[in-house]
Amino acid sequence: MDTLQSLLDQNKEWAKTQKEKNPELFERLSKGQQPNLLWIGCSDSRVPANQIMDLPPGEMFVHRNIANMVVHSDLNLLSVLQYAVEALEVEHIVVCGHYGCGGVKAALEDQKLGLIDNWLEYIRDVARLHSDQLQVLSFDEKHDLLCELNVQEQVKNIAETNIVTDAWEQRDNLTVHGWIYNLENGRLKDLDVSVKSTG
Ligand SMILES: [Zn+2]
Repeated sequence: MDTLQSLLDQNKEWAKTQKEKNPELFERLSKGQQPNLLWIGCSDSRVPANQIMDLPPGEMFVHRNIANMVVHSDLNLLSVLQYAVEALEVEHIVVCGHYGCGGVKAALEDQKLGLIDNWLEYIRDVARLHSDQLQVLSFDEKHDLLCELNVQEQVKNIAETNIVTDAWEQRDNLTVHGWIYNLENGRLKDLDVSVKSTG
């Protein structure tokens, strides 16, 4: 329990520091949010969305799941997406993967893991789609490339949702981006797979 008490103590210190840096922050945030970006990232503890871009609270709407997947039947993701696009009217959606993703690695390995296999099957679909490119590579190279290809495919999946296509009929200031994070140096890279309205 000591550990949990120390978390509460750390939070107290953090709140104090934030208030010193920006006295209006909490008052402003308690009235509402106006983030301009939706982040779809991996649940991995090493890829904390706000921290890696040095963003304070209120700047980003966030959805995270194993391997930053966009599954068309995932009501949780779709609800986040709809709220971000229709209510918050964000201008940017970033799907961010990361090298060394355990979910992507597990999808490449042929082991039975139980319930999670149903989720990993969506990543295996991506691998099957790009099998020509992947099959000639070593395991590590395959792992890196599949982390990138997975982001690319999830960007396409986002762009195909009716939430995004409907939004594109109304406004042209919504772009979907694909980024990848490098655990070894803490750097983000734009994969140049952005999609925006063609209308
Ligand atoms: Zn991951």
